[in-house]
Parts: sequence; C-alpha cells; structure tokens
Amino acid sequence: MIPASPDDVLVFIDEPEPLPTDGNPIWRVLIVDDEPDVHQATLLALKDVAIEGRQLEFVHAFSAAEARDCLRQHRDLSVVLLDVVMESNDAGLQLIGYVRNELANRALRFILRTGQPGYAPEIDTIRLYDINDYKTKSELTRVRLFTSLTVAIRSYWQIHQLEANRRGLELIVAASTELCKPRGLRRFAEGVVTQLCALLRVSEEGVVCAAAEVSGVSPYVLAAAGRYSDWIGQPLTSIPDERVRQDLTRTLAERNHVLGETTCLFFSVPGDHSLAAFVGVNHHINELDRNLLEVFCSNISVAFENTQLYQRISTLAYEDLLLNLPNRNNFLARIDQRPDHLDTLALVDIDGFSDINSILDQDFGDAVLRVVARRLRHAFTSQVVVARVGSDVFGLLGSQSEVNPERITDVFSTPFDVGDENLRVSVTSGLVRLDDSSLKGVELLRNGSVALKKAKTFSRGKALYFEVAHATAARERMLMLSRLRLAFSAEQLFLVYQPFIELASGRIVGAEALLRWRTEQGEFIAPDSFIPVAEQSGLMVPIGDWLTLSALQFLKRLVELGHHDFRMAINVSHVQFREPDFVEKLLNAIDEHRVNPANLEIELTESVAIDDIELIGQKLAAVRAAGVAIAIDDFGTGYSSLNILRKMNVDRLKIDRAFVSGEDSLHEDYSIAGMVLQLAGQLGLESIAEGIETQAQRDTLLSMGCRDGQGYFFSRPLTSEQFAAFLQDR
Ligand code: C2E
Ligand code: CA
Ligand code: CA
Repeated sequence: MIPASPDDVLVFIDEPEPLPTDGNPIWRVLIVDDEPDVHQATLLALKDVAIEGRQLEFVHAFSAAEARDCLRQHRDLSVVLLDVVMESNDAGLQLIGYVRNELANRALRFILRTGQPGYAPEIDTIRLYDINDYKTKSELTRVRLFTSLTVAIRSYWQIHQLEANRRGLELIVAASTELCKPRGLRRFAEGVVTQLCALLRVSEEGVVCAAAEVSGVSPYVLAAAGRYSDWIGQPLTSIPDERVRQDLTRTLAERNHVLGETTCLFFSVPGDHSLAAFVGVNHHINELDRNLLEVFCSNISVAFENTQLYQRISTLAYEDLLLNLPNRNNFLARIDQRPDHLDTLALVDIDGFSDINSILDQDFGDAVLRVVARRLRHAFTSQVVVARVGSDVFGLLGSQSEVNPERITDVFSTPFDVGDENLRVSVTSGLVRLDDSSLKGVELLRNGSVALKKAKTFSRGKALYFEVAHATAARERMLMLSRLRLAFSAEQLFLVYQPFIELASGRIVGAEALLRWRTEQGEFIAPDSFIPVAEQSGLMVPIGDWLTLSALQFLKRLVELGHHDFRMAINVSHVQFREPDFVEKLLNAIDEHRVNPANLEIELTESVAIDDIELIGQKLAAVRAAGVAIAIDDFGTGYSSLNILRKMNVDRLKIDRAFVSGEDSLHEDYSIAGMVLQLAGQLGLESIAEGIETQAQRDTLLSMGCRDGQGYFFSRPLTSEQFAAFLQDR
C-alpha cells in the first residue's frame, strides 16, 4: 500500500488546498524517546520536510518526565512522536493520560512508536487515550513517517479548529479512535458513516465514501451505512444507484469536488488512496463539515493500514510464520489458561538438527521442520496444543492419555519424506506433569527445558519426566560449569595415562589418555561428572582441542624415547566429533607435532551414531584414510545395533568395564564380553577389554581371544612422569 518512492507522496501532498493559517509559520512536533539514536534518525528522515506549506520544528525529550516539562512549556505542539517503553513499560501511555486528563488537551495528536511488537498497546488503550497511530519503529521509514505525520497534523489542525465551535468533536474523537479496532473494516466503516450522518444531519444512506488506489485497483466503496452498507468493498461500478455511482466516479476521475444537486467532495490523502465522499443533501456543505468529512475519510484510510498492521503485529507476536503454529508466547498463554484435563506438557527436540541446518542447508532444515510440524499436528487430536517454542523444539500441551513418551515415540517411528529424501528423525523430549501445579507457564516451561536438557545429556533419543531433583541438579551443573571454565583457564586440567597391555605377553602396547581435574583445594572431580557438563555447554570442544595437543606432545616424547609402535588413545566426545572441522583440526594437530598418525587412536562412544550415519561414515573414513585408528568405546552399553556397526568402519571394539569387572562380570560359558569378542572376530576387528582388576579376569579374557587389556590389575592411570617411569621399569 505504500508508494514506492517518497516522491510519489510528495505529489499528492502538494495538491490539496493549504489549510487556513493562524499565522504560525511552523508545526511544532515533540519527539519523546529514551534512545538518542531515534531522535537522530527521525530528524534525518524529516529533514527539510514541509507539511501544508509549513516547516517542522522539533522539541526533544528523552524521558516521559522531561516530556511533561516540554508540554507545559510549548502550548502550540501539534504532534508527539512517542516511545512506549521508557522509564517504565508504560511510561509513554501514562504521558498520554496526563495530556488528556490533566492538561485536558484533546487536540494534540500522538503517534506511538514501539520497539517490539510485544509492546504494542492494547487496542482499548488506543481508544481510551485517543492515539492517532502506532507503528513499530522499524516500520517508520521516511515515507511512512511523513504519511503518519501529515495525517496527524491535519487531524490536529481540524480538531484544533473545531474545538471551539463544534460539539461534534466528541463524535470525531470517538469515531476516529474506533478506527484502530481490528474488527471487520466493513462494520467499522459502517459505524463511522452512521456517526457522520448524524453529525451532518442527513439520513443514514446519505453518505457514501469511495476510495481509489493509486496502484490501479478500480475504485471501490470504502464506507457506507444502512442498506448501502452491502456495498462496502464492492467496486464502484456495481453501485445500483446511478446518481451515487456517477458522482463518485467523476469526482475521483477529475480529482475535484463535484457540486450540484448533491455534493461530492474529493480528498487526496497521503498514502495511496484518493478519497471521495458523496453526501446526499442539496443544502450547502459548509467549510466546517467539509473539514470534518476529510478527517473522517483520511482516518479511514489510515485505519486500513492500521487494522492490517495490528493483525500483523499480533500474528508476529503469537504465531510462528514458518510453521503456522502458535509460538512460544502463545504457548505460554495456553499453559496459563489451560483447562484441568490438559495435564501434561512436553518439549520435543529434534536430535542433531543443527547439523541438518549447517551441513545440509537451511532450506532443507526448514523443510524438515515443516514435515515434523505437520506430522505432530495430525498425530494428536485438536485438544492438544502443538506449538513451536524454539528453533527445533516443539511444545505439546495435552492430556496424559495423548501426550506421553510412547505416543511421541510413535510419531517418529516412521521416516519423513523431505523433498526426495526419506529421512529418519529422532527426538528427545522433556515432559512435565501439570496436575495441580500452581506454577506459571514460564516456570513450567523452564522445568520442561530442564528435563529436556537432562534427557539430551543422559538419554538422547528418549523422553524424560521432570522431577524436582532435576532443578537442583541443573543449578549444580551451572555452578560446576562456571568452576570448570575457571579451572580450564587456570590450567587445573591435566591428563593421566593408563597403559594398554598385550594380555599374552604382558607387553605395554599403548595408553589411554584420561582427563583429570584437581581443584585448588586438591579435590579431584570425576570426569564422569564434569564431562557431560562440558559437553552440554560447548566447553568440551576447546577442552578436547587442548587435550588432543597435550596427548600428542606426550606421544611425541615417548616415540623419541624409542617406543616407535606406541598406541596413544584419546577419548573424543560426540560433541567434538560433530564439529564440522573436527577431522581438519585433528589432522593439523598431527601434522604440527610431526607424529605418525598410525601411533594415534581415537575412542568414540556409540553416542556419535545418533547423528546422520552417512555423515559419520564419511568422517570416520577421512580419519582412517589419514592413518588414525578408531575404537568404539564402551561397546555394548549404548544402543547401537549391529547394523550401525556394519555401516561404521572402525578398527577396534573396546569392551566396557561393566562386562569385565562390573556386575555383569565374566562367566565361564556365557558372557557379553565373549559375544563381543566373537563379533569382533567375525568382523575382522581388533579388541581390547578395560577394567581388568584380577588375574582371573585377565586369564578368562585371554582364553576368549581378547588380545589387549587395561585395568587396575596392570596399572591405575598414571601422570605423564609416572607413566614414563613405568615404561622404563618394564
Ligand atoms: P572410559 O573411556 O570408559 O575410561 C575408562 C575408565 O575406566 C576410566 O575412568 C578409568 O580410570 C577406569 N578404569 C580403568 N581401569 C579400571 C579398573 O580396573 N577398574 C575400574 N573400576 N575402573 C577402571 P575415568 O578416568 O574416571 O573416566 C571415566 C570416563 O570419563 C571415561 O570412561 C570417559 O568416558 C570419560 N573421559 C575421561 N577422560 C576423557 C577425555 O579425555 N575425553 C573424553 N571425551 N572423555 C573422557
Ligand atoms: Ca575410553
Ligand atoms: Ca568404558
């Protein structure tokens, strides 16, 4: 609706007759905003602009309090460009209240400017305070600012003039503020004309307003009342009443008043409408009534914009446009207003979505979100609220019978068609039971996030219900994270090395580097507890980079000491492995230390397999092609199937200590360790068992065909100095 260039508007603005002047050569405009930038930008946008032949002069206030002073000082202010949120969330609105109630000034016009859609004033407020117009700041381009200001100044002037001698003012104010109401434009236009007719003392069908858009749409009926109201929105040509039709068409075409038996007035308004008002009376329409009509007509056309703007603002504030789902704000409101039977909340997070987005592309990512949104929407009854609460997080609100882990798993059990792809999507969810909870939506959503985070860390691909203990645990993790950051920068992290022993010969064939954290107080914190925290926060990546370098350095020293076949194993977290430049960084580090890649092995857990298997395959292949070996750590404890194992090309299976010295420990004729060893044999993979604590365990494993082992029976993890000595002794 906005003309393409400011010049378009200027053409229109130049046309109407200048308003009668009161001898004042300027319009004084007050800018109230706590951001100096906005003042600057406004001045720049309105530089050298004249409205109705008068220059603008600006008064500046940077707070509502300052604005009050300005208002008392300058009695000739016509328009206030007003920020809503300043000292307080409604400082702007309070200022208007002050003007209307305490200063009793009803003529001064307000154009509200809000930084964010969320702060757009309630529609009732607009009516209550008689606000002329409101826009989000980003919408106040030069053209729009000029348009709004022109309409406001004209309104101001009309009201100012009328104030003295017309009771109808009350009606104008009442009606013109009605214009912002986002109800059907039709009803509203009808209402305006009804009031207008009363004012002009003509019958209900006495006034018909028409608009012509610059952009070529044929002229149509903008407002009418009584039985004529059926015409609203119809093209002018379809008006059955020949006299009305002809008069309006002629007025718009000639861009001039057509006076005769009846009266038809022409108004050119800023923006892209020209307007005509047919008044079915033959008595002379005086200057005042004419002005009145113009105010109405131009306000109606502004209202066109405002109703659309309002709808857009509320859509933006409450709906996710990509997925056509309620957004987070909306979801929160729905939680707060939920009926009793909606007793479960779930947050559903797509696993590995950031990879889909960054490695494939964003369009593909959007497409995935769309199919998932559609599937979710159709999987549940309309009782269930399905919303988008984060970039790849969906919110569900429903009854326990619908919103539960089993149903969520069901939804994702079959693959999705995305373009030509047939994609499996796995999700991790956090659920919250809402029964008789007095918590607010925000808090319940936060509990959902806590459960989700916990699930993502400890049971990806699954669902977890929130428990109060989680919240405490979450706080503790936050605390640990900040301590860990400090410790990392204070170099309180270091590596220890636990030897790999060839079971048959007792020879040391290598070592696993294990991370240690000793606090300033000398307390050791177990890697099992701080590594998940580091992974969750992204801190694992820099820590992993550092420890790789550290282990390579030690490896180099051992090779230089003559241990040419030494195998140094480092643990690589799935978080590190998932980094797009993981392989590149690893190979660079090897290059820089001038070590043989064949001396290095990385241990990956099955959790890496959660991400796109093809992509993992490519990365593994690149690592192996460079000569670095790969071991699957904790084999048997994760959820990876043989299928995954077949697709992932690796060198070694590492039998977890749970199957060696743990509760599931070795049985003579049946054991998981035995099965893993057989499997490794069939697939042509190497094997190693960890957690060997006794001679008996060592013997059994050796008899089952296990080549290497690691465990307290041979040695605990050692510092680099201890390890070098240990090597020397053997
Ligand atoms: P993991 O990779 O399975 O490491 C083996 C764990 O078993 C080590 O615990 C080791 O000290 C322990 N262990 C070795 N021999 C025996 C034994 O005979 N009996 C028993 N009961 N335990 C034994 P640690 O060092 O506490 O590490 C725990 C886990 O923390 C590791 O499990 C690994 O998942 C993680 N982790 C440790 N260091 C790193 C690291 O540098 N990077 C990454 N990403 N994870 C690490
Ligand atoms: Ca390991
Ligand atoms: Ca293990």
